Amino acid sequence: MFNDFFMGVARNPRLFHRWLTVPFDVKRFWNARPGLTLWVIANQSYIAAMYFGCHMEGHNPVCSETGDWGKVSMGALMVAFAHWYYIFDYNWNEPAYLTTTDIRHDLFGWMLTYGDWGFLVWYYSFAFCGYVSFLEKPLNDNHACFIAGTCIYIFGMWLFRVTNIQKHNFRTYIAQGGDLSQYKVWGKPVEYIHTEEGSYLLTSGWWSYARHFNYIGDLTMCLGWALACAGPGHIFPFVPLSYCVYFWMMDIHRMFRDENRCRAKYKADWKKYEALVPWRLVPNVF
Ligand code: NDP
Repeated sequence: MFNDFFMGVARNPRLFHRWLTVPFDVKRFWNARPGLTLWVIANQSYIAAMYFGCHMEGHNPVCSETGDWGKVSMGALMVAFAHWYYIFDYNWNEPAYLTTTDIRHDLFGWMLTYGDWGFLVWYYSFAFCGYVSFLEKPLNDNHACFIAGTCIYIFGMWLFRVTNIQKHNFRTYIAQGGDLSQYKVWGKPVEYIHTEEGSYLLTSGWWSYARHFNYIGDLTMCLGWALACAGPGHIFPFVPLSYCVYFWMMDIHRMFRDENRCRAKYKADWKKYEALVPWRLVPNVF
């Protein structure tokens, strides 16, 4: 019973079948719209708090009447932009997210409902922008960390996008009845496994390096955010780093969950896939 409560029992609960041509998809709405939007608003509120020099006096927040950009950390601004862009990217490429684990496989239970509204919104925003807004000494002198962190973030975001869209484009091409003998990845004929179950597993391009190479972008970009929120002469960034530890544990655990599910689904074909693409995450390492 606890497992049903925690993980959920319905995969894609929908409402208003009688009145809507396309029923309202509760999980898709819950996963994306309110939580991700509130996350952006929370980040922007922390930036405003820095701008107006807000601080606590006893139990009361006190802010200046006039703002000062000198008090706003470049690192926090970059992270606020990065988070906004991540969510913009989600909305822009939404069809690509409809094939991810959250939507296709996870059930709609406490883990997703609390995760998206009760945890993600507040922790993801506090871990970077919130943390910087609470620092006593404004974090506006960490130029080297800011530049290095921004470069790491841009690399991670780019890798995240190109890897995930490659699989999505491949699966969409098949779903639309495309002829795979004509399909090219990086200018070469596509390589894949046509499983007995009926699905196709891509083994070309990024997907020839490792079975979850698409996780590396996310795992990398959070390190860039943490670095941009740190600097010499400031306290050790325990809070931003706590996010990295949490995210790495969550994503790697997710990777193992996905592998177990695929192994059970594809049976001998998954073994064939493991033989062709032997690495889980990083080629020649893991
Ligand atoms: P994927 O998008 O990698 O989807 C996994 C599914 O894709 C598998 O279950 C399988 O489904 C199919 N698949 C696996 N290998 C192949 C292949 N070679 N070719 C074609 N299809 C394949 O996983 P996630 O949903 O976990 O992650 C998507 C992205 O979202 C990642 O970049 C991850 O880091 C990110 N993410 C970010 C989070 C955040 O909080 N910021 C949270 C969670 C994820 P099927 O049964 O259809 O074959």
